[in-house]
Amino acid sequence: MRVAVLGAGIAGLTVAHALRREASRGGASLDLEVFEAGPRAGGRIQTTHSGGFLIEWAADAFQTGPGPARTLVTELGLDRERIEASAGAARRYIFSKGRLHLVPSAPAAALGFSALTPAGRLRLVAEPLLAGRMSREESVHGFAARHVGEEAARVLVGAFVRGVYAGDPKKLSVDAAFPRMREMERKHRSLAIAMAKERRGSGRKTKALWTLTRGMGSLMERLAQSLGASLKLGMPALRLSRAPEYAAPTPFTVRFASGESRGFDSIVIATPAPDAAALLRDLDIEAANAVREIPCAGVAVVALGFRDEAFRSRPDGYGFLVAPGEDLPILGALFESNLFPGRAPKGFVLVRAILGGVDRPDLVTLPDAQLIGLACQALDRAIGLKGGPERTWVRRQENAIPQYTLGHRERVAAVMKRLGSFPGLYLAGNAYRGVSVGSIVEDADRVAGWLLHAAR
Ligand SMILES: Cc1cc2nc3c(=O)[nH]c(=O)nc-3n(C[C@H](O)[C@H](O)[C@H](O)COP(=O)(O)OP(=O)(O)OC[C@H]3O[C@@H](n4cnc5c(N)ncnc54)[C@H](O)[C@@H]3O)c2cc1C
Repeated sequence: MRVAVLGAGIAGLTVAHALRREASRGGASLDLEVFEAGPRAGGRIQTTHSGGFLIEWAADAFQTGPGPARTLVTELGLDRERIEASAGAARRYIFSKGRLHLVPSAPAAALGFSALTPAGRLRLVAEPLLAGRMSREESVHGFAARHVGEEAARVLVGAFVRGVYAGDPKKLSVDAAFPRMREMERKHRSLAIAMAKERRGSGRKTKALWTLTRGMGSLMERLAQSLGASLKLGMPALRLSRAPEYAAPTPFTVRFASGESRGFDSIVIATPAPDAAALLRDLDIEAANAVREIPCAGVAVVALGFRDEAFRSRPDGYGFLVAPGEDLPILGALFESNLFPGRAPKGFVLVRAILGGVDRPDLVTLPDAQLIGLACQALDRAIGLKGGPERTWVRRQENAIPQYTLGHRERVAAVMKRLGSFPGLYLAGNAYRGVSVGSIVEDADRVAGWLLHAAR
């Protein structure tokens, strides 16, 4: 069976890995090629090593317990490089009303959560008493407000949503963007009760934050190496077409920008949504249009290497997220060198500030110097700076984070239904069934399973 994977981000690379593993287990013959438009594999995920700093340009960690992501690392022989986040990383802050507030780590501590008014705190802790179930689709904000009250939904959940999706909680669907929250409500009614039950055990290990000593980029490199000559870089796919069964030995033809056309039995499109829409256009315009309707937020990533003495007080914990409506020009800042060892040389702190998102798309295209200036201004207001950064790096991630807005699940289901008329054609990547690297790796196993099952 000839299979093409289009796109070598984490989605394409892990689908390819899962296909090879499952085909060899099942004794299926597989002639697999992965075509990547760019000059390197890994997509958004890339790690820069410079002067003792380690900078991540997209995901810097997995937040998963035992499961497909850990299995992947084991299969690639990278277990010895796996590192857990330091205990201090559990401390996270929210910037609200002009200053930082420590996010409570346990429900009992919520009464002291200074980002909320006393009434807001009482409403937050009353969640187990007031929470109810709802089955129809809701926005993240609507869902959160029913559970923790309007104020905590705006400040706490609003900041969190900006951290994960760089998005608007009033537009995102809780069912698509945070399905686990809906599941917790369905099972336990109250989120606080659900979390307490999970913590108490059922023997399930809680989710941990972990990465690799040489960064997420090393995982991409190992996946790319394992593909060997099957990985073709600098090969953007332009168009897909399907020949009538009687006319061609392979049903799908991919036309590449190089002018070359190649036939395949199966195709996995693992590109970002706008590229997937362009590839689908000739096959099924309705599927292409539905994929194009998935909005994406762009962000700018500004990495800053400071000397320890540059701060009025040393940055604490994981970092901070900015509540919506605050007059601070960043979505949040992560204190990378507090999170994992080896992120900055001794005597230095590495901070990664994220700007842009759906609220401020204009920021993403600003010149580097302005982005660095805005990031420093935000850090000065939030934690206080005595001096500027010694090293700076900037990268723009345009159309980086798909927005699972209301109706997302129906849109994806409609696309999958239409693609049902093209047996052998699959979609993978962060636009459909989860944006986190953990969910993308999990989805890769699913997509590989569908493809091989259908081919039997
Ligand atoms: C700043 C930032 C921080 C993040 N932090 C986290 C985090 O801490 N934890 C977490 O879990 N997730 C995080 N994420 C999300 C996660 O990194 C992404 O969702 C994930 O990397 C996307 O992978 P992908 O393979 O779906 O897409 P991509 O990485 O975009 O890969 C798609 C690939 O397809 C290629 N391509 C495009 N068109 C074509 C074509 N026509 N032919 C061939 N190839 C093509 C592209 O060149 C690219 O290499 C973060 C994202 C960003 C931007």
